[in-house]
Amino acid sequence: MTLTHANFQAIAAKLIPNGRAYIDGSSCDAVDGDKFETINPATGQVLAEVSHCKSADVDRAVAAARRVFNDGTWSRAEPEHRKEVLLKVATLVREHTTELAVLESLDTGKTITDCLHEIGTEVPRFFQWYAELADKTFGKIAPTGLGALALITYEPAGIAAGVLPWNFPLLMAAWKIAPALAVGCSAVIKPAEQTPLTAIRLAQLMEEAGVPPGVINVIPGYGHTAGQAIGLHNDIDTLSFTGSTEVGRMFLHYSGDSNLKGVGLEMGGKSPFIVLDDAPITDDLIEHATMSAFWNGGQNCSANMRQLIAAPLVEEFTARVCERVKAFRLGDPLDPSTDIGSMISKDHKEMVMCYIQSGVDQGARKIMGGSSDLPGFFIEPTVFQGVTPDMQIAREEIFGPVLGIMPVGSDAEALAIASDTEYGLHATVFTRDIDRALHMARSLPCGTVSVNGFSEGDIKTPFGGYKMSGSLARDNGTEALAQYMQTKTIWITT
Ligand code: NAD
Repeated sequence: MTLTHANFQAIAAKLIPNGRAYIDGSSCDAVDGDKFETINPATGQVLAEVSHCKSADVDRAVAAARRVFNDGTWSRAEPEHRKEVLLKVATLVREHTTELAVLESLDTGKTITDCLHEIGTEVPRFFQWYAELADKTFGKIAPTGLGALALITYEPAGIAAGVLPWNFPLLMAAWKIAPALAVGCSAVIKPAEQTPLTAIRLAQLMEEAGVPPGVINVIPGYGHTAGQAIGLHNDIDTLSFTGSTEVGRMFLHYSGDSNLKGVGLEMGGKSPFIVLDDAPITDDLIEHATMSAFWNGGQNCSANMRQLIAAPLVEEFTARVCERVKAFRLGDPLDPSTDIGSMISKDHKEMVMCYIQSGVDQGARKIMGGSSDLPGFFIEPTVFQGVTPDMQIAREEIFGPVLGIMPVGSDAEALAIASDTEYGLHATVFTRDIDRALHMARSLPCGTVSVNGFSEGDIKTPFGGYKMSGSLARDNGTEALAQYMQTKTIWITT
C-alpha cells in the first residue's frame, strides 16, 4: 500500500520517541540525569528529551563493550553466527522501515521519500552485505622457503567508536556498525546531537536480533561532552568519524593526547560538476546537475556545488537548471510530494543565509532562491551565476542548497579550477568522449569521480576523500573492514 501524507502524519502523531542512551543492553539515563532536547527542524517544535551523556557514560559503555569483547561472546563467535544475527538486523530494519523513516524525517527535516529509501533499502543492504562478508574474509599466507610458514591473519580491532553527522543519521550509523560488528568488534556510537533518535531505536532492534549486551552502545550527547570523551578515551581501539573537517582534525589531536587509537576520517567537500563542451544538455544531465546540488537540501558532503560548464553551453545549462529547480517542491517533509525538506537547525539556516549574502556581496548574481517564509528552517534552492573561483561561495563548504555556476574555456581550465580546493571528496564529469572522461577522472584529486551521472557509487565501492576530505580510511566496500581489523603475522619456523 502506498502511504499518503495523512498516513505519515498519523504515524508521526502516535510515535513516542525514545531519547534514552542504550548501554550494555539497556535503555538508560545519563549518570548525572542530564538531558537535552531534540527539535523537529521542519516545525521548530521539541520532539523529545534525550540523555545528555558525558565521560562517565562513555566510561560505562566502553567498560561494557570491553567486557563482552574480552569474553568472546561476539568477538570470537563463529563468523556464521555473526552473519545470522546481522542478517536478522537487516530483516528487522526492513520490517520497521515506516516507523524508522518517520522518526528520521521528524528528527532531521529530511523528506519522507528519502528516509524511506535510505532506511528501507540502503540500511538493510549494509547489514546484509557486511553480514555476508563475516564468513568470507580470509587471511593470507606469505611466500617463504621450506623453513617457515608465514600466516597473515586479521583480528577484530577491539572497541570501535563511531562519531556521526546529522545529515544521514541512520545510514551513517549502518556504515560504521555493520563492518565493525561483522569482523567481531564491539561498538560505541555517538549520533549527532541534532539527530539521535533512529540510532537509539536501531540499537533496540539489534538487541531483538540477538546482538549480545555490550556489543552495541549508543551514547547521545554533544560534541564537546560525549564526542570529546570518546575521542580521548584510553580504551577505545579504533574510531571512525564522519563530519566536518574542523572536528575531524580534533579527533587526530584527541588520539595523540590519549592512546593513539586508530582514526578514520570522512569529512567535508566542495565537489565540482563538470560539463565538457561535447556533452549534450539533456534532461538527464539537468536532473543529475540539480540532484547533485539539492538532494537532501544540499546537506550532503559530496554535493556538487561548483558547476563548471563549458562556456558555449553555459547559457542553455543555466536556463534549464532554473526551469528544473522551479519545479522542486519545498515543504512538509512528511508529504511524499515534497522534494526538499528543511535545514537541520535555525543556526545552520542562518549560516547558509550568510553564505548567500556573501555571494551577493562579492558580485555573483543570485538568479533564484533564498530564505523561505515557511515555519521551520527552510531555504529555497538557490542558484548563482557569474561565480568566480576566488569567491567564498566557490571555496567553502556551505552544506546548504547554494549552487554556483562558472563558465570554463577549456578542459584544462575546468581541471585547474576543480582541483584548486583544500577538499577532495567527489567530482562528476559529463562528456561523450571516453578519452576526455578518463583523462579528467585520472587527474582529479578526489576519492570518487562519476562520469555521465552523479553517483557516490554503492555499497561495494569504497567512499572517502583525498586532501582535507578524509584520511586514508574508506567507508563501504571491503576496504571499510580495514578500519576495524588488526593485522597479525604468525611466523612459524618449520
Ligand atoms: P560536525 O563535525 O559538526 O559533527 C560531527 C560529529 O562530531 C557530531 O556527532 C558532533 O557531535 C561531533 N563533534 C562536534 N564537535 C566535537 C568536538 N569538539 N569533539 C568531539 N566531537 C565533536 O559535522 P556535522 O555538522 O554533524 O556534519 C556536517 C559535516 O559532515 C559536513 O562537513 C559534511 O561534509 C560532513 N560529512 C561527511 C561525509 C563523508 O562521508 N565524507 C558524510 C556526511 C557528512
